Amino acid sequence: MNNTETTTFLESVDLCFNKAADALKLPKGLARQIRTCNAICEMKFGVELEGGYEIFTGWRATHSEHALPAKGGLRYAPFVDQQEVEALAALMTYKCAIVNVPYAGSKGALKINPKKYSIDELEHITRRFAQELDKRGLLGPGLNVPAPDMGTGQRMMSWIADEYQQLHPSDINARGCVTGKPVHFGGVAGRIEATGRGVQYGLQELFRNADDLALAKLSGTLEGKKIIVQGLGNVGYHACKFLQEEDGANIIAILERDGAILNENGLNVEDVSNYKKEHGKVEGFPEAQFFKNGKQLLEHPCDILIPAAMEGVIDHLNAERIQAKVIAEAANGPLTYEADRILCDKGTFIIPDAYLNAGGVTVSYFEWLKNLSHVRFGRMDRRLAETQGQKIIDAIERGIGKELDDQSRKELLTGPDEISLVRSGLEDTMRESYGEIKEQFLGNEKITDRRMAAYALAIRKIADIYESMHL
Ligand code: GLU
Repeated sequence: MNNTETTTFLESVDLCFNKAADALKLPKGLARQIRTCNAICEMKFGVELEGGYEIFTGWRATHSEHALPAKGGLRYAPFVDQQEVEALAALMTYKCAIVNVPYAGSKGALKINPKKYSIDELEHITRRFAQELDKRGLLGPGLNVPAPDMGTGQRMMSWIADEYQQLHPSDINARGCVTGKPVHFGGVAGRIEATGRGVQYGLQELFRNADDLALAKLSGTLEGKKIIVQGLGNVGYHACKFLQEEDGANIIAILERDGAILNENGLNVEDVSNYKKEHGKVEGFPEAQFFKNGKQLLEHPCDILIPAAMEGVIDHLNAERIQAKVIAEAANGPLTYEADRILCDKGTFIIPDAYLNAGGVTVSYFEWLKNLSHVRFGRMDRRLAETQGQKIIDAIERGIGKELDDQSRKELLTGPDEISLVRSGLEDTMRESYGEIKEQFLGNEKITDRRMAAYALAIRKIADIYESMHL
C-alpha cells in the first residue's frame, strides 16, 4: 500500500468481520451470508423549493433481516455515498447483536448539506424522503425504523413520524416508525444523551476491570485521566460532559472543524460548547492554546482518545504516532483496518465502535418499546415504590429511634421515573455486553483484541439465529 491508498470504510468493516469469522467454527458459507448486505435502495426524488425543483439522492440499506424491524440512523451529509451507507448498515447489524437489541441492521442517508436549507425546506425534503421510504417498504414500526445520525435530529424524526402517521392513520403503533423523537411526540427521556452516556458507561466498565486496565497500562479511576475528544457534537459533548462532571476526568483537548484547543489543566466542556454555539468555532476560546491543524492533536499524549466525529480519521498514515493508551470509539469507523492493526500491535487498548456507541440504538429500543406499549416508563410503579420507601423509612426510624437525615429520606422516597429507568437499562446493557465481549476474548485464543471479540460475539449470535431458522 502506498501513502495515498487507504482501505475504504466498507472494506475495513468487512476485513474485521472476516478475521473474526475465521476464528469461529461456522457452517460453510454462513459467514458470507451474514456479511452480505441484503438490500440497498437508491432513491432520487424531486422537491419543489423556492428556487425551483431540486433532485435529491437518498439511500436506505437493509443489511440483515434475521430480526424485525431493521434499525439504524438516517444521515444527512453532502459527501455520503452508497458504500458508506452499506458499511454503516453492517455495523448496525453487529451493534444490535452485541448489545442484545432484537433488531436487524439498517442505515440511510440523504446527500444534502442541511445547513444550506431553511427549516421549512428541510421539512418539505424530509417529508418527501419519508414518503419515498414508505412506498418502498422501508419505513414502519415492524419493518424499518430510522433514527437520528449525523446531520439529523429530533425535529426531523417528528416530521417522519407525522408523515407516516398521515399515510397510515389506522396504525396504532405509527409513532414507533422512527426513534429519537422529542418526548412530547412519543420520544423517551434520555435519548439525546444516550450515545454519549453509553460511552461513559463503557469507559466506567473498563475501569471496573483491573486486568483490562493493566492491559491498557492504566490504573486507578477515571478521575484525573487525560482525555482528548474529536468532535463536540451530540455524542462527543455528552460523553465528555458526563466524564468530566461525574467521573472527574480531565478533558485536555477538543478537536473541532475549525481547529483544536488544548489546555493540560483541563477545558470546561460546558463552557467550550457554549463558546462554540456563540462563535461557531473553538478558535479564541480563552485560556487554551489553539491549533489550526486540529488533527495533529490526535497524536498528543493522553490516557484516552475519544474520536467522536467522522470515519477513517486514524489511518495508516497517522496511526503509528497516536500516543493514547485507550481509544474509545464513539464515532462509527474512526479507524481504518490498517490503523486498527498498527495500534493493536502497539498495545493500544481499543474499545470498538460496534459496542461503545451502541447506547443510541439501545435507548432507541426503549423508545420503540414505549411506543408499542403506549405507556410511559415508571407510570405503573413509581408511586408504589414511593409508598414502599415510606414504609422502609418508618421501619428504620422505629428501629434506630430517631429520624433519618433529609438526603436518605429523599433517596428512599423517590420512585423510579422514566429517565432513571432508561439510564439504568442502558447501564445494565453496557456492563453486560462488556462482559460478554471479554468472555469471547478470553475464551478463544484466536481472538486477539476487543474488536475481534465484539465481532465474533455478534457473528455467533446471528449465526445461531440463522441456523435455528434454517435460512
Ligand atoms: N445513528 C445511531 C447509530 O449509529 C442510532 C441508531 C438508532 O438509534 O437506531 O447507532
